[in-house]
Amino acid sequence: MKEHLIKPGKKIDLRKIDPGDCGKWAGRKEEAKKLLEGLSSKLERLQEVMYAEHKQRLLIVLQAMDAGGKDGTIRSVFDGVNPQGVRVVNFKTPTTTELDRDYLWRIHSQVPARGEIVIFNRSHYEDVLVVRVHELVPEEVWKKRYRQIVNFEKMLVDEGTTILKFFLHIDKEEQKQRFLDRLNDPDKQWKFNPNDVDERRYWDNYMQAFETLLEKTSTNFAPWYVVPSNRNWYRNLVVTNTIVEQLKKLNMKYPELEGNIEDFKQAVQSS
Ligand code: ATP
Ligand code: MG
Repeated sequence: MKEHLIKPGKKIDLRKIDPGDCGKWAGRKEEAKKLLEGLSSKLERLQEVMYAEHKQRLLIVLQAMDAGGKDGTIRSVFDGVNPQGVRVVNFKTPTTTELDRDYLWRIHSQVPARGEIVIFNRSHYEDVLVVRVHELVPEEVWKKRYRQIVNFEKMLVDEGTTILKFFLHIDKEEQKQRFLDRLNDPDKQWKFNPNDVDERRYWDNYMQAFETLLEKTSTNFAPWYVVPSNRNWYRNLVVTNTIVEQLKKLNMKYPELEGNIEDFKQAVQSS
């Protein structure tokens, strides 16, 4: 699944990346689901060690168009993981308090602590997406942000945070279908936001903004993955697999108990 990794500096044309792609798993959904079950158990174990070791920090950035599946990814990929060590942060339209400060202020305050996995549901990348598309700040301001973001992430990585960034890539037709599905299901109607329909008019502008950010901010130390996301099961497989592979590289261990185990046992016995 390495093919979904965006190499630093690579020119990106999102129209050439098929959101319905399932790689070698095309037509093998049941097999893929079995594999995913195994990966999910691995993720649970790795996260447990991460929490116990209290050393590493993992930041996962999720970006997508509306109905792109951010919520579903969080629910599925982290299902079964100990909630003690995982935190989801949703970045909505900034408050006045946030707007009075630089755009990274609210982001920096939410980065993971040692032993913690933090999932950003939207992120600082909104500041070069919605902000660019709707010209919420002048071009000369948002243009500088790519470099600032790369520098910010480099600092986090240098200080011991691991960063993985996922763009959940769906197509415009799939989005329309998902909006209709929401409207047709009384349990999902609450998710429908009429503004999302207006936002569809800017689809091409968003794709352009995504292409620029992928080109400018996918680095060796904080890579972007473009995940074909029309099919939820494939999306979950790619995201889970990528996280598991990354966590394995950290060689985490349960901390050793300091002191003499036999002495402790005796102390417990005679207590
Ligand atoms: P769902 O997919 O369930 O609708 P959501 O992530 O879209 O969830 P909403 O409350 O619907 O959540 O939308 C959050 C909104 O906040 C988005 O429209 C997003 O573009 C906007 N937003 C996030 N960060 C910023 C930012 N820095 N500047 C301006 N708008 C922002
Ligand atoms: Mg929304």
